[in-house]
Amino acid sequence: MSQPDQGQNIPHWYAGDADGDVLSLSSGEGARVTDDAGREYLDFMAQLYCVNAGHSCEPIVDAMTQQAREIPYVSSSKTTPAREELAGRLADRAPGDLNDVFFSISGSEANESAIQIAREVQDAPKVLTRWRSYHGSTYAAGALSGDPQTRAVVERHAATTGVGKFLPPMVNNSPFDGDTPEEIGKQAADHLEFVIKNEGPDSVAAVLTEPVAGTSGAYPAPPGYFERVREICDEYDVLLISDEVIAGFGRCGDWFGIQTEGVEPDMITFAKGVTSAYAPLAGVLASEEIAAEVRDDGHPLGQTFAGHPVACAAGNAAMDAYADGLIENGRALAPYLEARLRELDEKHDEVAHVHGRGLLWSVEFADPGTGEPYVDPRVEPDADNPVETVREVAGDHGVLFGSGRPDTQVICSPPLCIDRADVDEA
Ligand code: PLP
Repeated sequence: MSQPDQGQNIPHWYAGDADGDVLSLSSGEGARVTDDAGREYLDFMAQLYCVNAGHSCEPIVDAMTQQAREIPYVSSSKTTPAREELAGRLADRAPGDLNDVFFSISGSEANESAIQIAREVQDAPKVLTRWRSYHGSTYAAGALSGDPQTRAVVERHAATTGVGKFLPPMVNNSPFDGDTPEEIGKQAADHLEFVIKNEGPDSVAAVLTEPVAGTSGAYPAPPGYFERVREICDEYDVLLISDEVIAGFGRCGDWFGIQTEGVEPDMITFAKGVTSAYAPLAGVLASEEIAAEVRDDGHPLGQTFAGHPVACAAGNAAMDAYADGLIENGRALAPYLEARLRELDEKHDEVAHVHGRGLLWSVEFADPGTGEPYVDPRVEPDADNPVETVREVAGDHGVLFGSGRPDTQVICSPPLCIDRADVDEA
C-alpha cells in the first residue's frame, strides 16, 4: 500500500521556522491564536485586517458546514438561497441606492470589476487613485495601488495605462502645508480637482479611494475632505468608488467606512470582513441603474467561484454577528483604544503620530533627533528602523501587530470582539 503524502518538500515560505520568521498558527478562539508549539498570542491585527468576528466563531462555522452539506456549489448562472440572502442584506446595509451586487473572490478582483464597470458606463478610459493606497495585486488592481514600495515592480507587470494618481490628504508628513487638518483636506480636494481638469474630465471614469487608507497606515481623511470630493465628482461627472476591503464591516465603526464620512459613493468594493475571512468572497455594490447597463451589455464580470455558496453562508452568519453587537462593541471600544495609543505618543519621543478610526489605528515612528520618519528598510536595506523591533518584542510578549507600508508604523486592527482588557494587554 502506498504511504499517504505527508508533504515532505514544504516550500520555505510555508514552513514555520524556529526563528519565528514564519509563524505557524494551528488554532484560534475569539481574539486569540495559538502556534504549533502551543504559544498563545493576542491577534491585534485580525490576521490581515479581516477576521473581524474573531476566530472559531461557532455560528459562522455551523452555517458553512450546513451549506456544504446541502449544496456546496451552484454556478453563477443560477442562484441559491444563501447567495440571494447575502446580496439582499448587503444592499440593505449599503448607503444610498447601491442595491445590486457583483460578487467576486478577492478584493483585487472586486476593484478590477469596479473599474471595468466604471469605464463601461462612463465611456471614459481613466481611473484616478491616491498615492499611499493599496487596491490589490492583480494586473489592473496592482496598477491602482499607490504604494511607493511596490511601484517599480508594478510598473513592470501591471496595466498602468489609464490610471492617474493624486496626492493623499494626510495630515502628518503631508504634501500640503495647511495649518489645520481642515485646511489640508481642502487643499487636497482642490488638488484632486486640478488633476481631473488636467487629465480632461471627459476622459476620467472614476475616482477610486479607500475611505480610511488601510495598509498604507490607517490614515483617515480630514473633516470635510470627502464631502468636497463628492461635490467635485458630481461637478465633473466622475464616479466615486469607495474601496471598503479593509474599511468595511465594522472596522471603522459602521458597516462601511464611507458612512462615517456621511457621503454616498457610486460604487463600493468589499472583501475581507464580509465573511470575517472564513471563506474568500468579495464584490462590488452598485446602483440598479449602473448594474443594468453593464448586465445589458453582456459584460463578462465574475469568476467560477464568485459568490460561492459556502462563502455566502459564512457572509450571512458574519453579518448576523456584526448586527448582534460586534459593530457596536467595536464602536464603543474605539475611543478607549485611541486614548491608550495616544498615551504612547505622550510617553515616547520615538512616536511621531497616532492616527486611525474605529478599530483601525497606526502608531507612526520617527527619529526623535530629526523628527523624520524612519526610512523603510525594504526601501533602504541598511536603514535603522525600530518598528521591526517593536513588532518582534510584541510578538515575544504574545501580541501580534501589523506593519504599515512603508514600514514606519505599527498597525492595530483587532477583531471586533476584543474588550478593554485586551486593549490594555496590547
Ligand atoms: N483593497 C484594499 C484597501 C486592500 O487593503 C486590499 C488588500 O489588503 C485589497 C484591495 C486587495 O484585496 P485582496 O488581497 O483580497 O485581493
